[in-house]
Amino acid sequence: MPPRKWKLHLTEAERAEKVRLAMLTDDPEAALASMFVGMATKLQIDAMDEGTKLLESGRLDEARDFFFAYVKEYVGEGNRMPSIGGEDGGGFTDECYTDITPYDRATLMACCNGMGKYYVAKNDLESALCWFEEVQILHFHMKFGLDKPTYDWTTWNIDLPELTYQRTVAFIGAAEVYKKLGNTASHAERRWESSRAVTNLWQTHRTPAVNRLNDMAKVFAACQVRHPDPNTCHKLSVSYPRLQVQGSWKKLSLKPGGKTAGARQRFASFIWNSHLYVFGGWAGDMNYEFYKDFWCLDLKGEEGREWRKLPDYPVPVDAALSRAMVVHREEKRAYLITGSPRVDYFDLVTERWGHIMTSFQATEEDKRCGVTGNWPFRGNDLQDAVVVINKGKIYTFGGLHWETYIGCNLFTELDLSTKKWRRLSGHVMSPPEADYAIPGPKASACGWVGPCKDRIYVFLGCAVRDGPLNKKGRKPELHQAEMAYPYRDFWSYSISEDKWRRERISGNPPLSRTERGCTFNEKLNKVIVFGGYSPCIPTLFEETIRQHEYSYYADTFVYDHPQPGESIMPQYTSTNPEKCIPPSSTTYPRWKQVLTKGFPTYRCHAHLNSDPDTGKVYLFGGYTNTDYVPSRNNFKSRPFGDVWQLRMDVPGEGGDFRSVNVNEEERTAKIGPWKRCYTCGGSGMWKRCSGACGGKAYFCGTECQREGWKEHKKQHSCRKV
Ligand SMILES: [Zn+2]
Ligand SMILES: [Zn+2]
Repeated sequence: MPPRKWKLHLTEAERAEKVRLAMLTDDPEAALASMFVGMATKLQIDAMDEGTKLLESGRLDEARDFFFAYVKEYVGEGNRMPSIGGEDGGGFTDECYTDITPYDRATLMACCNGMGKYYVAKNDLESALCWFEEVQILHFHMKFGLDKPTYDWTTWNIDLPELTYQRTVAFIGAAEVYKKLGNTASHAERRWESSRAVTNLWQTHRTPAVNRLNDMAKVFAACQVRHPDPNTCHKLSVSYPRLQVQGSWKKLSLKPGGKTAGARQRFASFIWNSHLYVFGGWAGDMNYEFYKDFWCLDLKGEEGREWRKLPDYPVPVDAALSRAMVVHREEKRAYLITGSPRVDYFDLVTERWGHIMTSFQATEEDKRCGVTGNWPFRGNDLQDAVVVINKGKIYTFGGLHWETYIGCNLFTELDLSTKKWRRLSGHVMSPPEADYAIPGPKASACGWVGPCKDRIYVFLGCAVRDGPLNKKGRKPELHQAEMAYPYRDFWSYSISEDKWRRERISGNPPLSRTERGCTFNEKLNKVIVFGGYSPCIPTLFEETIRQHEYSYYADTFVYDHPQPGESIMPQYTSTNPEKCIPPSSTTYPRWKQVLTKGFPTYRCHAHLNSDPDTGKVYLFGGYTNTDYVPSRNNFKSRPFGDVWQLRMDVPGEGGDFRSVNVNEEERTAKIGPWKRCYTCGGSGMWKRCSGACGGKAYFCGTECQREGWKEHKKQHSCRKV
């Protein structure tokens, strides 16, 4: 029997949060029990040696059968391993992981790692990632046994070094796979998280084996590249089609000298009738200009695209920041959600603003969850929330309001036919204890309605725990801390079941970041995300010997909802749980990285939108930190006003990949703030060719210019002028 008391380890900050600790120190009975557990675990893990030896001697299939038999022994019949995400999948939580004893947990983790290593040896990276992820899920489930539910940012461990070792093996196993896939961001994230996970643990957990895995030279190397890395991204090609797809970013040309919406961030945007609409926002510290203006851009015209100014927002406010607009296609209206009972809309046909008055009737349960004055959004305010529309109803999740700078997990619905709001779940202000059944408080998450129109997905985002500390005069909040917390979670809400489910993150995903661009593309049946920001994964710049505590991204990923009838592979629902089926032979939804030779500059708060008519994907705006991205001015941040189209090598309308010349891009595509030398492929602030080509190629110096001239002359019909 497992002993009742565990020695939990928490960081200083977590201690301050007064999570109850069950300490062993002055309880001899429990101390004895702990020793027993340590020995028992060691015996069990030693038994795993047989599998490890099989792996090492190359008897791979025998090793797989050995580990899988053990796994089945632990999880029991009828439990598919590894569990898989998706519409019919079991989600993240598994009851059989909650009550398991710590030594069984460690042994099960060892088996999952054995399976992961088997699939790495078989070069089935997708299945390997699934098994390594299972170890993290097993680790997370220890939380569910705590007396008081704790938020995701509260990390803790049981004082059983074997658990730490197995978790480290899984971290590094996944990191190596991401590295192989060219997913530099997730490679750095896993390595960094792994090294962080042990820093506050007892010395006994930082064994030589764990320290070897957390090789700091490798951690630093992973943090020294940008994502994508200009020095390697042009060399990446699709070698694992289930985890990667070829793509290309193309900057759209606008009519020279035409009107422009201008660079901005924290705006609202959408596409309707092949026009991109942009509303409000601000320019950042460049000129402190705040906007409530409204613009649209005809995306169809190949030449001479020009921004057109629409009527200003009629409400007397100085700015419209971090709001959201959603389109009701049948009504041909774009609704603006600000947190106010007055919901303004823009009539897309008459191009006039109008509004509806909405109401909320608080139940006792709503009041218990923090609703005051019969209105859920305090200060009539809602910013950086997920806002989606589905079947005549608008849903909001999380975001900031007048009384929280951290974010909340309030989930609401506005029925446009009755004009009434409802609180579906969550709190206006986060209570001391977490609720494992629903997502935690967050802002700037990705959200979309799934293809079946019954599930709303919420992915990542950030608890802005440093928000209340960042400006003077802000009220202190219960969960504030020095560091913001970027989530590593994925949830879906079933409208028909009125229930949240935590989902697995599967495939080749972007991890732990916030403020990214995100769109669900109905034509392609995919979610596309771009860029974003991580407040706690560092970037180390070797050339300037500078260290940043954060990262800005410019990488692109898609989440592939399966196309109905598209696949001939067996549905994962029909797989026999007793059989060892590699996840890579099933049709569950998963993330893929979009490999692009060039990319828009690293940034957060860019918006992605899909044209519902053509299926094409566009990016606009956002901002970057000028310490992070080289710039000639002295401002802290730089906003963007550029428009890009993402083209992807995928079946169906919208991918628009036919016009892409991948070979040409490898040598000439814009790589964020830099240019690629046409001749040697090096990246930097190079000079463009001043010949008749109009600057189609860049050269790092006269030597490369001379060397590459002949080829460039032919390829781009260039000549000296
Ligand atoms: Zn060169
Ligand atoms: Zn030229």
